[in-house]
Amino acid sequence: MMYISSSSSSSGRTFETRDPRTGDVIASVAEGDKDDVDLAVRAARKAFDHGEWPRISGSERGRILTRFADLVEQHADELAALESLDAGKHPAVTKAVDVGNAAGSLRYFAGAADKIHGETLKMQGQFQGYTLREPLGVAGFIIPWNFPTTMFAIKVAPALAAGCTMVVKPAEQTPLSALYLADLAKKAGIPDGVINVVPGFGPTAGAAIASHMDVDTVSFTGSTEVGRLIMEASARSNLKPVSLELGGKSPLIIFEDADLDMAVELAISANLFNKGEACVAASRVYVQEGIYDQFEKKLAERMKSWVVGDPFNDPRVNQGPQVDKVQYDRVLSYIDQGKREGATVLTGGRPLGQNGYYIEPTVFTNVKEDMTIAKEEIFGPVMCLMKFKTVDEAIERANDTKYGLGAGVVTRDLDVANRVVRSVRAGVVWVNCYFAMGSDVPFGGRKMSGFGKDEGMHALDKFLAVKSVVTPLKGS
Ligand code: ADP
Repeated sequence: MMYISSSSSSSGRTFETRDPRTGDVIASVAEGDKDDVDLAVRAARKAFDHGEWPRISGSERGRILTRFADLVEQHADELAALESLDAGKHPAVTKAVDVGNAAGSLRYFAGAADKIHGETLKMQGQFQGYTLREPLGVAGFIIPWNFPTTMFAIKVAPALAAGCTMVVKPAEQTPLSALYLADLAKKAGIPDGVINVVPGFGPTAGAAIASHMDVDTVSFTGSTEVGRLIMEASARSNLKPVSLELGGKSPLIIFEDADLDMAVELAISANLFNKGEACVAASRVYVQEGIYDQFEKKLAERMKSWVVGDPFNDPRVNQGPQVDKVQYDRVLSYIDQGKREGATVLTGGRPLGQNGYYIEPTVFTNVKEDMTIAKEEIFGPVMCLMKFKTVDEAIERANDTKYGLGAGVVTRDLDVANRVVRSVRAGVVWVNCYFAMGSDVPFGGRKMSGFGKDEGMHALDKFLAVKSVVTPLKGS
């Protein structure tokens, strides 16, 4: 039996969250709007200006964050079940990956909370200076539906460590885990008013956070289109600093000397992990011409044992349903467009079953760079396979995108790997692996994939203001 507390919204309105396996309603959730965001920001402001959270020692905050991490681990089964039900995920994978990463991030920033300090500055003349790194204030978080538990944790953890208070808006498709996590935060001893969760829709609750005059920074993860709106809202309101983790069309470059079996497995997991609902999915796979035919054959063979289905009832399932009808229709329309523009379907290419939002894992070959499927983020189980000849060509084509989130290179040649690593314009480059992440590894893109890092010590900086202090030096 699971219990999630949620108060009613100011308007009394609710919205339904659905199970993507069937489309059935799981729960009705209070629908927060501008008035609720105002109340939440007021609570966060009060907790920041007058509450204990920014004032207690870093080690005390760290102790509470550690307790929060412990509780997340103790409730990993419930969280994984809730998340899988809401987002169509695999419960065992969700427990290990999503919940594991969430606890890891809380623990990492628990350790950082008492290591926040400034510098001493030896000035010219009769003065000396030092810097203070102070909590920035009220942070706003607008998060997506693909990794809701992880997103919640990696966003709030550095802000909590810094001593900020916050308002969090989970995605309307997946509001449940954020409410559950807020309960755990309270149990861990995080005081009232520090974390305020407002479930609701983007153009209403989300926009109210982005344009709020009393929110001091916004950290957003989602689409490039909405990222642009967040930045505009900041510019029009109080010029709050924003950090944006946006879309991607990441390249995976496979060279002729690669271990072919490993390369095939990497291409599959880099595209189909979490049903392709990952901003960093390697949806452009470049394979060098000498192994291209073999690669294509092996990939098609391997896809025959890839199981799509209900991840709750069959442990063999590799891929569950897409998160909702909107995404399902969107992915299918990209697949149709790929066919219309002349790409060849190697595997998949159709919806699966009568019920729920299942799609066959789809591999396109004969893909040209100017096709829509090679340029736009699809956010589903769709891989584009392309052939290349030389290292220079691979690098040039990998960079020929408006995005710059991730990249992968598969080779045994260290010099080739290093050339790609240094030439690809991306926030993270994986060599002979993909998707490997850690609480200490900064994550975030370049170009139209956004800016600002989640995870790692860089994330802490987003929630700290540097204050320079200057004092006279007398008699020295
Ligand atoms: P996706 O296309 O993957 O659903 P979105 O960028 O639309 O990604 O959504 C990511 C988050 O941004 C969600 O929490 C959503 O509610 C929110 N959002 C959507 N539109 C807006 C908006 N106009 N202002 C602020 N937040 C928004």
